[in-house]
Amino acid sequence: MLVNLKEILALAEEKKCAVGAFNTPNLECVNAVLSAAEKLNVPVIISHAELHEEVSPLEKIGLVMVLAAKAAKVPVCVHLDHCETLSYMEKALEIGFTGVMYDGSTLPYDKNLANTKKAVAMAANYNCGVEAELGALASREGGGASASGPVYTDPDQAVIFCRETGIDALAPSFGTAHGIYKSKPVLDLDLVKTVSEKTGLPLVMHGGSGVSPEDYRTGIKNGLRKINYYSYMSKAGTQAVKELLEKEDITFFHDLAYAAEKAMEADAKKAMMVFAGF
Ligand SMILES: [Zn+2]
Repeated sequence: MLVNLKEILALAEEKKCAVGAFNTPNLECVNAVLSAAEKLNVPVIISHAELHEEVSPLEKIGLVMVLAAKAAKVPVCVHLDHCETLSYMEKALEIGFTGVMYDGSTLPYDKNLANTKKAVAMAANYNCGVEAELGALASREGGGASASGPVYTDPDQAVIFCRETGIDALAPSFGTAHGIYKSKPVLDLDLVKTVSEKTGLPLVMHGGSGVSPEDYRTGIKNGLRKINYYSYMSKAGTQAVKELLEKEDITFFHDLAYAAEKAMEADAKKAMMVFAGF
């Protein structure tokens, strides 16, 4: 069933666990994630990232995501990840997305604040919750490295930002990066606790692939309620295709797609179990 971001994060808060948010740029990803969530009977978020627009346009995959969420046996939020333009956000709202991350983290603070307020006002006309980011991650979505490194979130500024914007969830910057980690990430999980206590809002971990299970558990204990996870799931799909091609002479693409879907389902399931505290 389709639920909004606020509702799904309330479910996570009730159980003091986190809900996984998985990018689903194609049908195999949608099937993999929803099937894993249904097998575990856990709520889940499926996301579309603006950066995947070229391989998977919002107006096509978005419709698939909303329909699949409505048909699912578990609560599903359909979420727009890292939306940097409000006109793009409007398109997602029209399609029926129930969550959106407005990302103004590369903008100066005042501009981020003003645009996030606009995003909250727009979402209020729909059944949609808003997540925003404060501080900046070590790399942009897609794994491109930043020379400057992360800018950690200031907890006092976060309190003002959350109060003034009226957002439903905050993505603080505490040391994670997007994409595949080249070395073990060093996370400031005490900062998560401080921001959680001061803002009272559900917090979001970006770059959630490749983090150790202990760090996930501590982060969840400290207030993380949404964990974005994609790169390692996608990598598991690619690996399954490689192995199948080495083993057999495959003609039909659907056989490769199916192998990838099953491998991604298994990977997503493992991540969901950690996030749910199983
Ligand atoms: Zn992200």
